[in-house]
Amino acid sequence: MAKSKPFHWQEPATTVCPQCEGSGEFLGMFYSSPCANCDGTGLVGENGEPLKPEELLPTMRRQRDRAVADLESARQHYRQLLQIPGVREALAAQQQREEERQRDEDMALRKRLRGV
Ligand SMILES: [Zn+2]
Repeated sequence: MAKSKPFHWQEPATTVCPQCEGSGEFLGMFYSSPCANCDGTGLVGENGEPLKPEELLPTMRRQRDRAVADLESARQHYRQLLQIPGVREALAAQQQREEERQRDEDMALRKRLRGV
């Protein structure tokens, strides 16, 4: 019996393109171009070989959707943290300490620049 194609498409595992280190760009001395190894995507298959053209776009779409979902869940988590009593106040206090530290640093620098 001939081996049939799997019914569900399996998204291939990917890794960073070794040629462009994931930037998707080739930077030459006199010109630049999309990386020829990964078609400018920065992604290759787990084996380091370019992905099949028909799998590249759906793979990138899924990766993008996951990244968007992760970002949204991080935002949700942040909003929940802000609801905990005392968290907003602690953040404000931290910001104020940071501003004071920056002001002190600026003053010290100005003193040094003026000379003793
Ligand atoms: Zn590449």
